[in-house]
Amino acid sequence: MSKGILVVASGFSGAGKGTLLKRLLEKYDNYALSISATTRAPRAGEQDGREYFFRSREEFEALIQEGQLIEYAEYVGNYYGTPRAYVEKQLESGKDVILEIEIQGALKIKEMFADALLLFVSPPSAQELERRLITRGTEDEKRIQNRLRRAGEEAEGIDAYDYLLINDDLESCVDAMHSVIQSEHCKIQRNLGFVQTILQELKSL
Ligand code: 5GP
Repeated sequence: MSKGILVVASGFSGAGKGTLLKRLLEKYDNYALSISATTRAPRAGEQDGREYFFRSREEFEALIQEGQLIEYAEYVGNYYGTPRAYVEKQLESGKDVILEIEIQGALKIKEMFADALLLFVSPPSAQELERRLITRGTEDEKRIQNRLRRAGEEAEGIDAYDYLLINDDLESCVDAMHSVIQSEHCKIQRNLGFVQTILQELKSL
């Protein structure tokens, strides 16, 4: 069985990544979504082990020391990191694993896994991003400003990504994401085993 693809989905806070990924997993099989560890406090309605593994700073630092995270980063004052065991197991079993992480983590993943697929999700405009952050109502004014400032910094790094997905209409964006990942499966570089085999078979006909 061929290994799954490691897919990174980044995007400005408020770009609608959470909804997008939830819908992708509902609509299509063969995806696994990695659940990160974080030191940020849970938002209303968030559950430990579902949206995140919520950990204290000490607990998080222990995970780092023990090598249990593939990558981690600080984002607007909190740690966020990707647990290693789940990701490796799912990739081995042939699932495409999606990491919803910010840009520093994405760049580390690209360094470690050259064949990772990096997708950047953006709302159609900066005004729309601000509107979504305000209507989401999960952050106060100061935090919204911090996240918008951070979005400006992240925008500088978009050219490190492989594909841009504009999240205007949810269903179209979900389908575009699925198509990009499926196309990635068809790349010759990812199918060298098949190519070798058919070449051998053709020679022996
Ligand atoms: P939020 O607090 O809005 O849930 O997430 C803040 C940012 O942290 C988002 O851009 C999200 O993609 C990113 N993030 C979530 N989990 C991880 C992770 O495991 N590693 C890294 N590097 N970033 C993460």
